[in-house]
Amino acid sequence: MDFDLPEDAAAVREGVLAIAGKYDQEYWSRCDAEKRWPEEVWRELVQGGWHSLAIPEEHGGAGQGLLELAVALEALAEGGAGGAASFMYLLTPAFGGLTIARHGTEEQKRAFLPGIAAGEIETCFAITEPDAGSNAMNISTQARRDGDEFVVTGQKIWISGVERADHLVLVTRTIPATEAKPRTNGFTVLLVDVARAVADGTLTYRPIPKLGTNTVASSMVFLDGVRVPANRVLGEVDRGFAVLWDILNPERILAAAGGVGSGGLVLRIACDYAAGRAPFGKPIGANQGIAFPLARIKAQLELARLMTYKAAWLWDRGRPCGSEANIAKLTAADAAWQAADRAFQTHGGMAYSLEYPVARMFRDARIAKNIPVAEELVLAHIAQHELGLPRSY
Ligand SMILES: Cc1cc2nc3c(=O)[nH]c(=O)nc-3n(C[C@H](O)[C@H](O)[C@H](O)COP(=O)(O)OP(=O)(O)OC[C@H]3O[C@@H](n4cnc5c(N)ncnc54)[C@H](O)[C@@H]3O)c2cc1C
Repeated sequence: MDFDLPEDAAAVREGVLAIAGKYDQEYWSRCDAEKRWPEEVWRELVQGGWHSLAIPEEHGGAGQGLLELAVALEALAEGGAGGAASFMYLLTPAFGGLTIARHGTEEQKRAFLPGIAAGEIETCFAITEPDAGSNAMNISTQARRDGDEFVVTGQKIWISGVERADHLVLVTRTIPATEAKPRTNGFTVLLVDVARAVADGTLTYRPIPKLGTNTVASSMVFLDGVRVPANRVLGEVDRGFAVLWDILNPERILAAAGGVGSGGLVLRIACDYAAGRAPFGKPIGANQGIAFPLARIKAQLELARLMTYKAAWLWDRGRPCGSEANIAKLTAADAAWQAADRAFQTHGGMAYSLEYPVARMFRDARIAKNIPVAEELVLAHIAQHELGLPRSY
């Protein structure tokens, strides 16, 4: 199947690269060290409308799609943000903007999309639970109907950005996993007003001390009788599985775009170092032992980019894209990790110095193989759906 890049993709790339280019690696290292959201960059993205590309024009966005979001995220990562870019494009533009644009009621679109486009509403997403990580079917956070409301009880883990979010896109079960037939039945996706739930004490969270990706916190979230109005159901009650896949596939595709961009950034940093460092009188990059692995990564990143764009293009047309999204995520995360690893090798001892950005990039690239979906689960999907092998779990 062939696909076309939209004509304005180049303009999106240039616009975001122009913003990214104003911020050097010292800025990103400082945000990381201070564990703070890159507010200055975020505000510039909002002002330019680069975060709301996929929101329909009548609600204040650019009326484009996931493909343009992927192009923007890739440019932000490649232009300097590295791993931080993925969170900036996933939390609000994708989990909130894209999901509500596709699945929201007219009332929900009016209530949320203009605010997201104006940078006044931010969102995050919660599916992972302590006892149901990769196995989303097994989540036990329960939403019980009570008149015009749902009452939610449960626990989520690793929820990124809840400390900033106005609304949480929350995956619940309205039919327990043990009773649902088929098991994909009984999911309900809710839009939870975080400030209100925090204020009445029904939602609390605790950041998890973590190795990296420090520009955003990731938290344990405790839900103890959170009340959510019935008009804040995204999609249909019990049939949230369809909404869920329209969150998880774009998440994989955007994570892939982030990997392609981050990999491109660290590859460039490695090449600059290889061109300048000359302990034996000629640049280390003249040695094939240094140059060839970097060249191979360049090829891998180009291929991962193509699959990322293809998956996004399919999603924008409402076509099945599960395998493409998984393959994009697998190959991009792997190429980004190889890039960070080879950049580390190319920097010799200096890779270990915190004065260079490579150590931070090395650390952040590694987690992309495990999240938002672990490599093994992606391979299991490909084995089953593309190779026709028996389901392994
Ligand atoms: C920094 C960070 C940010 C995150 N942000 C969010 C967020 O905002 N919202 C959210 O909901 N979640 C978030 N997550 C959670 C993330 O999506 C999960 O950690 C991820 O899906 C893996 O789940 P798990 O950690 O429970 O691993 P597990 O499911 O426990 O898996 C552990 C290992 O076993 C392997 N494994 C498991 N089952 C099988 C099988 N059947 N066959 C082969 N191998 C298997 C896995 O591949 C993995 O390598 C975040 C995680 C991190 C670390």
